[in-house]
This record gives sequence, C-alpha cells and structure tokens, in this order.
Amino acid sequence: MKKRNVDLVCDIAELISLAEGGRDRRELLQKVVTSVAGHMHADVCSIYIYDEEHKELTLRATQGLDLMAIGEVKLKLGEGITGRAVRELRPICVGTASQSSSYKFFPGIHEEDYEAFLAVPILRGLRRIGALVVQAGEANYFTPNDVKALRAIAAQLATMIENVQLLSEAREEAAAAAAAVPAPKKVIADSIIRGRSASTGTARGKAFTLDSAENETCALPDPDAPPITVEDFERAVENTADQIDKLQRQMSEDLADVAVLIFSAHLLILEDQQFTGRIANLIHTGTEAVQAIATVVNEYVEIFSKSKMPLIREKVLDVKDLGNRLTRNLLNEESDECDYRGQIIIAHELLPSDILKLSAENVEGFIVSSGVTSHNAIISRSLGIPMVAISRDQADSIPDGEEMLMDAEQGIIYLHPGCEVYDKYRELESAWKMLHDASDMKEQTLTKCGEQVNIYANINLLSDLKPAREFKVEGVGLYRSEFPFIVRNDFPTEEEQYVIYKKLVDQMEGRTVTFRTLDIGGDKMLSYYSNVTEANPFLGMRAIRFSLQNKDIFTQQLRAFLRAGANADTRIMFPLVSSVDDFIAARDIVQECMISLDAEGIAYNPKTKLGVMMELPSAVEVVDELAHEADFLSIGSNDLIQYMLAVDRTNEMVSKLYLAHHPAILRAINRIVSAGMTHNIDVSICGDLSADPRMLPFLLGVGLKKFSIDSVNAPTVQRLVNATNLAEAEEIANCMLDFGRISEVEAFLLDRNLAKEVEA
Ligand code: PEP
Ligand code: MG
Repeated sequence: MKKRNVDLVCDIAELISLAEGGRDRRELLQKVVTSVAGHMHADVCSIYIYDEEHKELTLRATQGLDLMAIGEVKLKLGEGITGRAVRELRPICVGTASQSSSYKFFPGIHEEDYEAFLAVPILRGLRRIGALVVQAGEANYFTPNDVKALRAIAAQLATMIENVQLLSEAREEAAAAAAAVPAPKKVIADSIIRGRSASTGTARGKAFTLDSAENETCALPDPDAPPITVEDFERAVENTADQIDKLQRQMSEDLADVAVLIFSAHLLILEDQQFTGRIANLIHTGTEAVQAIATVVNEYVEIFSKSKMPLIREKVLDVKDLGNRLTRNLLNEESDECDYRGQIIIAHELLPSDILKLSAENVEGFIVSSGVTSHNAIISRSLGIPMVAISRDQADSIPDGEEMLMDAEQGIIYLHPGCEVYDKYRELESAWKMLHDASDMKEQTLTKCGEQVNIYANINLLSDLKPAREFKVEGVGLYRSEFPFIVRNDFPTEEEQYVIYKKLVDQMEGRTVTFRTLDIGGDKMLSYYSNVTEANPFLGMRAIRFSLQNKDIFTQQLRAFLRAGANADTRIMFPLVSSVDDFIAARDIVQECMISLDAEGIAYNPKTKLGVMMELPSAVEVVDELAHEADFLSIGSNDLIQYMLAVDRTNEMVSKLYLAHHPAILRAINRIVSAGMTHNIDVSICGDLSADPRMLPFLLGVGLKKFSIDSVNAPTVQRLVNATNLAEAEEIANCMLDFGRISEVEAFLLDRNLAKEVEA
C-alpha cells in the first residue's frame, strides 16, 4: 500500500478544516489521528497531550488502540519511547519496539502486535504540547520520509491543538463556574458570566453602563480649581460641537451609506438655546457648572423618555452623551476621553444608530440586556464589534469600571480576568486570524472532485465591500438594504438610495449583485414611520408585506435598484414572500417601474433577475409554483428556521429549540433545491447556516452550489468545500433526510465527526 505522505503534509487545508469542523478538543484530535492513520496506512495513530504541571503525557485520541485507554494511559516525561521523544524534543523511530529498552508496554489496549514505532513531539518552539505517535505491525515500517512527514504535521498541529485545547479549557472553566452558580447575582463572585453571542470576536475593556446614573456625572470638578464661568461653558460648547462635527465627517468617510446626519440630534440640541442657554443661565445665577449641565440634561431626559413619539424617545442616549461630552470638555479633560476607547458598553437597549455612533467613538464591545434584535447583531458583525446578550440581573450586577474580557464567540464574559485568561485569549485571537486569513483565498472554489461552487458575500453596510473584495467573493448574494433606512430620521429618497446602490455595484466591478428589498418590521420598525405597536411583529407588517402596502416607498427603492444596475449584472429578491401572489404582485410593480423609467428615458438594467427569498413554510409548500415564476430562489435560513419551527430567533429562552438540523428544515431545504433543479433556476442560500461547517456536507449533498456568507467566513467555507467529495456529501445528505427525529440527526452528526474517515 502506498503511503500518502505528500498529500498529508501538503494538504494543510484539510487539517485546518478539521479544526473548523469541530472545535471540541476530543473531536478534533480524534479526527486528526484518523486522518493521519489513514494517509500513512499505519495501524495505530495516537495523540498524547502534555501536562507541564505534572510532567506527564496522557493519551487523548487514538485510532487503533482501545478507545477505553483514552484518558487512562499516562506516561511520565522520559517514560517509554513517546516520553523520551517529548523529553528530548526529537522524533524517535524504532524498527522493532519490543526489543527497545525504552519501550513501555501497556497490556489490554491492543498494542501487542505493533512493532514499528514512531513518536514525534508536538512543540511550539521549545514548549512541549504533546506527541504524535504512529505504530505498525510490520517491523521497520516507518522510513526517514515518514519521520519528516510526521514532523511537518506535528508542526502544523501544534498551534491548532494548543488553541483548541485552550479554548475548550476556557469554556470548561466557564461552564463549570456558570453551572455552580444558582442565582445570576452570584456569578460576579465567580468572575464569569455566561450569555449568548450576537456578534463574534473578543474584546477587553472597562464596563461602562450607558443608562447608569453614575455615568451621567462621572466627571467631577476639582474643588481647588477656579470657579467655572459662563465663558468657560461657551468654550466647552464650541469644543463639543467641533468634536461632533469631526465624528460626523469621519463617519461620512467610513460609512457613507448610513452616516447621514447620525449625530444630527447632538448638534441640534447643542444649538438649542433652551438647552445651552438654560445651562448658561444656571451658571450665571450661581449653580456650579457641572451641576448645571446635569440638571438640564436630566430635564431633557425626563421629557424625551416620556414622549409618545419613538423618534424622540430614541434621543435619550444622545442627550446623555452630550451631557458627558460637555462636562468633560468643561473640565478640560483630554478629548480622547470623550470616546469609548477601552470601554465595553453595557446597555439595556441599543438602537442600530447607537451602535454606529458608539463604533465611531471606538467602543470595544457591547453587552446588551434586553435581547438582541437581528439588525443589531448584523450591524455589530459588520462593524466587527463583539456583542453578547445577558440577562438584566446579570447586567445590573456588573459594577461600572470593572475590567472585563469578552469571548463573544461563546458568549462568555470574564470579570477582572487574570493573566492566564488574557494569555489564552491572545493565542485564540491569533488562531482566529490565521483561520480567517484572506490571503489563503483562491479565485475559484472547487470540491475535491472538481465541481465548481460559488461563494458570494452578504453585505450589510458598504464598508463590508472592502473585505468582500479582499476575500475574492464572486459577487453579492444578499445586500440587506434596510440599514440606510433604519438609521435615518426619514425615508431616503430614490436619489439618495441610487447613490448608495450604485457604489455597491461599481465596487463589485462586474460581479453579480443581489439586492434584497426592504426587510423592516419584525424586531425593528422604522421609528419615524409608525407609532403602531404590533402584538406579534414577526407575524405582522414585515418585509415584502410592508413594501406592497407602501407602494410609493417600494417604487422608489425598486427604481433606485434598477437604475443602479444599468450595464451591470444585478438581481432583486423579495424577503418573506408567503405566496406566489406576493411574488407576482412585487414583480408587477417592478415591471411598472421599468415602464416608467423607459418613458422617462432613464437608463436601467432591463435584464434584472427577480427572485424569492425562501423563508416561510407557506413558500416551501408552493415552491414548485414559485420556482416556475421566479428567476432564482435564495434560502433565508435564519427566518426559515424561525418560522418553520415557530422559534423566535431573538429569544434566548427558546434558543435551544432553534435547530438548523431539525428534520423538517433538512427536508424543506431539499425540496427547495429540487424545485430549483426541476425548473432549471438558481438556488442559493444566504442565512447563517450557509457557513456552518457541520451542515456544509448536507447542503452540498442536496445540490446547493451557491453560498452567500459573511466574507470573513469565506476561507473556512472554501477549505471545507475543497475537502468535500460530492458523492460522499450526497450519501450524507440522503442519510440525514431519512431521519424523522432530531435526536437521530444529532447522533449521526456526532458519529460522523468521530467516525473513521480513512480514505481508500
Ligand atoms: C435569513 O433570514 O436567513 C436572511 C438572510 O435574512 P435576515 O437575516 O436579514 O432576516
Ligand atoms: Mg430573513
């Protein structure tokens, strides 16, 4: 049998995709030994992990030995061939192990018949991480080339194993601490709070509670300083206006699509004589200046928060922020202190516009205690700011100024973390960077058997386009058009929209761009549009329903899309379509827009393809008819799961029921893809499921070839696709489609991760 060392060593992508496939340490190690044994045709491959404190190696994964030995077989440093290899920091290759003086035999673990023994230490520099061991029945089986190959693999594995190990240890610690704590308040004493991740990443900083009374007067005047005069206050107003102006300009450069007058409320209030004039009057009549600001800010907060108009209520944070800025400028604090660098914001509620503002002010991370709206999660992800949702009690128990470290990937918050925690996270951050390195991306994505797969980007803000291009995506599979609408005080005009959409098209330089029409409602209404509160907003006036009901707004958006698509490859899709009738009604309006643009002599893309987002069970039931009418289908798995399973995607209480691998979801996806094939139209997937490594074989197996994902996940998806053989993926999909129970699918996925994956 031919050993496949070159494949094994060169195929780094496979090794990395193993890490991605399951971050659980046991699972990863088991996959590694299976793969190495398979490639080398060795009878045994094992991994030992080294414990520096006890100077001991423990068997952690094996292919070929008795699985019961895992965790039980231990070797001291220097003990046996493996212990010696690790002590001496060098590989040891023995032709006939039974004759070696170092050989340590463990009875009862099926080690009896193996003579050839090769142990290679896994090292990071000189740091001992463990050992990779292969054994074979045939004496002298391993050659110097095998030693080289295993060394190269051990080097590749070192970082990965260490990081996965660190990650799972951190999580085990967090889980143990969280499990040991009955009441949320006590969590503080254990230094760990467990929440739910809304936007991944890690952040360090001091806690700053946005709505805390303490933070409104966090700066105090120096009692020895000369009294502050009205002139000092007027200077502080000018400085504050300059700072806000600068922030606004900086935002307009960085986030042109959503920056429009985002700080306008700040400036308006600042220019309002009743605000600044009243503070000046109070100072003039003897009130201490900081106190005067606090008094007037509190009056405004009181008025704003009682307003019946949501738009006004939303300004409470603005006026508080303004008060803080004025106070700090008055006390001549460094201007840098007016921003949120080094701080993690804790807020009961945040608006997308708050997130934008705070990101412009360099906030490190967000902790939210009232549940996370999908738009907040999406915008934080686009801005690269970690966000974790926790309960109100947990949030209330974090003291302001507390040092914190957030692992927003797992939703864990460490309070006053020690050096060890910091060290672990430094390592994890670099591992994360390695796995999401854009330089690894190839232009084309091919499966192992050579089939082409297309990777597109989900774009939320125009600023996502730069990474999308860096990650070499083939186009935009989903442009969530609602953000420019959400952060304004009024609907953007057709012209304003056109400017944004045109930038999007231009920057994609000829690649396909898929616009999604406005998807508001659900957990986010436009505060300037309606005061009506719906009892069940997710079942209410959302997405295409809103657009069809508000034809003027819909028409303006469609015209802007069509115009931006002139001479380009553009598509438009409609969210939350529940019937063929919805689609036809929307398509009719597109056709009306084309007629009017023709009549006005305005250029547009007459070949714009029109598609349906598959997000509702009712749409799945009529998918054949939809596929007959539409030019393409795009599976919005985030909503498809929510509506098929009746599980609110933003509700933590039911988050355990939000299961992408529910048999109903698997079958629905299969039906959608089959309908697309029958009618010969494109089917793509654009929900978060499209970048889920566990589910990718299933998705490929049912025939999906177009994936629209957050660009940062592109390297991972590409590596996984490269490592997938479509025939095997089909087999996997067929098995999964046969199951009727969630538990059966779960057992299958688990088995698959642990099972032999030895290639022929
Ligand atoms: C989806 O529902 O999967 C989707 C992509 O749309 P959104 O997340 O914007 O609702
Ligand atoms: Mg959706």
